[in-house]
Amino acid sequence: MRYILLNPGPVSISDGVRKAAVATDLCHREPEYYVLQDRIRSGLLDVYNCSPDEWTSVLLGGSGTTALEAMLSSLLPRQARLLVVENGVYGERISRIAGIHNIEFSAVQHEWTDPIDFERVEEALSAGDFTHVAAVHHETTTGRLNDMGRLAELCEQAGAGLLLDTVSSFGAENIPFGSPALIACAATANKCLHGIPGLCFVLSRKTSLETAAEPPRSLYLHLPLWVTAQDQQGTPFTPPVNSLLALDKALAELRNQGGWKARHAHYSSLAGQVRRALSRQGVKPLLEPGDSSCVLNAYCLPSGKTYAEIHDGLKQRGFIIYAGQGRLVSEMFRISTMGDISRYDMERLLAALSSVLFQDAWQPSMGDKIGQ
Ligand SMILES: *Cc1c(COP(=O)(O)O)cnc(C)c1O
Repeated sequence: MRYILLNPGPVSISDGVRKAAVATDLCHREPEYYVLQDRIRSGLLDVYNCSPDEWTSVLLGGSGTTALEAMLSSLLPRQARLLVVENGVYGERISRIAGIHNIEFSAVQHEWTDPIDFERVEEALSAGDFTHVAAVHHETTTGRLNDMGRLAELCEQAGAGLLLDTVSSFGAENIPFGSPALIACAATANKCLHGIPGLCFVLSRKTSLETAAEPPRSLYLHLPLWVTAQDQQGTPFTPPVNSLLALDKALAELRNQGGWKARHAHYSSLAGQVRRALSRQGVKPLLEPGDSSCVLNAYCLPSGKTYAEIHDGLKQRGFIIYAGQGRLVSEMFRISTMGDISRYDMERLLAALSSVLFQDAWQPSMGDKIGQ
């Protein structure tokens, strides 16, 4: 069975991307590879119209966490003082990375289900003499879209550079590239960009690469090593060539489909379709309306059903959903709407959910009929 993946990455990919990934054998020391690498690096800047005079993109092999750890360990100079904003698993991961690399940091902590308390962030910034702030744009733990425009403004006032985990938002949500405070963001090929796993990247202001940590905190994760080689049509290590082939095609599809704003609208429409149908069946979203990203919504487990029952029932019917993390595992489930999926796929999901939750037949409401 070919499953429809409704977990937050890797995502269901298009047939075009699947074919592109295995279309050819490519040596990474040949000119064909460098043409591909250059096209992807500039294609990533183009997703948000970042000027190549100010910004550069660095590709590296690994999952989203690789990009995150590379961004933090390379772009924070040795004397940096970092403020981390945490309201979920991924914010807490930033603090773990900072701790492992002996970066001086403190964290503004929140409950996983809470929005960022900007008053506390402002207080910490005015009291603490921080050079940098790091935060998660879309906190996939709960599906919350954190307000990065507001955080960027606070960083501008405090003169701090902002480093963002945009792993589950790059390609589908608005990122405040216009703010001079934003210096870098980390992301991956296999979430909102609809590529395959293995390739991740950091978009960085060129000036921030010039002030990178010296001496380096890591060999593989040190971004200046990668960018210097990539700027000279090289690569320091073997890149995930097939993931580049796939991302090249996925970026072309994103452009043809109208770019990130069109993708945002598509995800929002699918998420709304699911949310309305579940709400009619008494399944409540975990967060207040308007607080979730278009990428992923978390729902409270209906009483009398365990996650395992819902997950296994849906898997039998061809859909993979996602459990809550950590202490939320017994309270919620998550449905992501990223990937190459359609309203028709969602209609089939809702029919499957209805039969798993209530063992009854699913009646689409007039407003949600396909084609409307
Ligand atoms: C998926 C994700 C990551 C990275 O996860 P990997 O398993 O390393 O790819 C980091 N941050 C957020 C917000 C994510 O959703």
